[in-house]
Amino acid sequence: MATIPSEIKKQAEGTLGLLWKKIDPKDLKPGDHIYSHKRYGIYVGDELVIHFTRTETKNSILWQPKAEKSAHRPPCPKCGYDERIRLGVVKTCLDCFRRGKEKLHSIRYFAYGVPQEVLLLKKSGTCTTLVSGRTADEVVREADKLFRKQGFDEYDLRRNNCEHFATFCRTGKKQCMQMRFYNDLEERVKRRIS
Ligand SMILES: [Zn+2]
Repeated sequence: MATIPSEIKKQAEGTLGLLWKKIDPKDLKPGDHIYSHKRYGIYVGDELVIHFTRTETKNSILWQPKAEKSAHRPPCPKCGYDERIRLGVVKTCLDCFRRGKEKLHSIRYFAYGVPQEVLLLKKSGTCTTLVSGRTADEVVREADKLFRKQGFDEYDLRRNNCEHFATFCRTGKKQCMQMRFYNDLEERVKRRIS
């Protein structure tokens, strides 16, 4: 059996305990990759999260949370975020990040460096085997740069979504475990047809 590098082992041990656990917002630290109600983002301090939302393209409207379809909420009095405007990378308060139609959903940590076996538990969208080698400062800087420059291209549910965004800030690599499965499946079907 292959030996697991110590860096990966250490990170796996550190993050496994946090998997799927609800977090108290007070415990968040800048640079944390968090998710809630199908949104993924980077916590940047001061109760603010930078995350990637849909832009106005056809690839972005294939799917959206039911809650958002009927949302006609006025701009947030706390952070000014208006969810009807599709801006791409946004900085919002924690409440806007975790708000569903009627309630505030729980916040959880996205875990890095988990062993392949954990991924096979079909908890996609909660963890990755990728190792986050960046420091918290670097992660926040990256998220902030992408926010200021709107530098994350057009939203595409399959290839450029909010999980890709947060994972990119943490690792420099775009990855979305949820969509990987569907994209692989599509490739296989295409190959069989042609
Ligand atoms: Zn807000």
